Amino acid sequence: MMDEFHRHFTVHVWDDIADKDGFLASHGADIAAVATNGHDGVAPDIMAGLGNLKIISCYGVGYDAIDTSVATARGIMVTHTPIVLNNDVANTAIMLMLAVSRRLVHDHDWVCSGRWQEQGNAPLTRSIEGAKVGIFGLGRIGQTIARKLGAFACDIAYHTRTEKPDLPYRFYDDLTAMAKDVDYLIAITPGDASTYQKINREVIDALGPDGTLINVGRGSVVDEDALVAALEDGRLGGAGLDVFANEPHVPPALCKMDNVTLTPHVASATVETRRAMGDLTIENLLRFFNDGSVTTPVPECAHMKVAPLR
Ligand code: NDP
Repeated sequence: MMDEFHRHFTVHVWDDIADKDGFLASHGADIAAVATNGHDGVAPDIMAGLGNLKIISCYGVGYDAIDTSVATARGIMVTHTPIVLNNDVANTAIMLMLAVSRRLVHDHDWVCSGRWQEQGNAPLTRSIEGAKVGIFGLGRIGQTIARKLGAFACDIAYHTRTEKPDLPYRFYDDLTAMAKDVDYLIAITPGDASTYQKINREVIDALGPDGTLINVGRGSVVDEDALVAALEDGRLGGAGLDVFANEPHVPPALCKMDNVTLTPHVASATVETRRAMGDLTIENLLRFFNDGSVTTPVPECAHMKVAPLR
């Protein structure tokens, strides 16, 4: 992706700029495009310093760190990279389900620590075959998870703001009610004000001591203190987490639990998917500068009219 950036554009790498204020003062007005990711976004002071910014191309489907209300008010196009990462993010959700239910990390350690020789067979684990799964967020990735869980004969329910009558899954208009009825709750919504800490103590307690939380959406969706407390008290059965409230900082208590598997926000991080995301990040910029169109605008910019720039 960086090679392509340098091939097509004059590139300034923000992290390499020593005098950032000086750069904004002298070059800010010349910058037409920003490429960033959903985690770093574009800080308000940087956005304000780029007076002629026309487009923000986000490498990632989540764009919670980009203030789209400011961007749209200024006529700045924002694009992201949906769809190309559906499979790997869904695979990560299912990998975490299997890792927690089958105690993968624990059993790996059982082999490598010598406990297999000293103590014999590892304890029995739980099967995900035919399990009841509730998916919080049934968009592009949520639907991919649901479809793939068909291979495990899982019984799928979902909670979203709007019912999806064309899909063959059971809708709950209440997240707590769904959590009460399922073995696994998978969070795969955007991280915005509407989803902030939606998975709170009440939802976690509804999931209960035989339930497992999987979060591949955003850390902000879960009340992390309530989650840690529930795991410590045995009020929740287990958790598989790829995202956290304050990345890269993770509550140390989670690292000591056999019923918890953690990954460092890597759900889309395969060579294949990251290449596809990079290609789409570039494609949006090239189309924009060619004829003013883009391939994958964020929903807030889907109807934005932009004039061709050259
Ligand atoms: P979509 O926009 O396709 O789907 C989002 C889903 O969330 C929709 O079903 C939407 O349904 C639902 N939703 C949104 N807000 C709420 C709410 N307040 N209450 C209930 N449901 C809600 O997004 P994607 O599936 O493409 O991606 C989802 C998210 O996954 C991304 O925004 C990103 O944060 C995260 N992600 C994480 C990755 C990782 O590395 N761990 C990688 C990729 C994505 P409705 O509108 O009907 O409510």
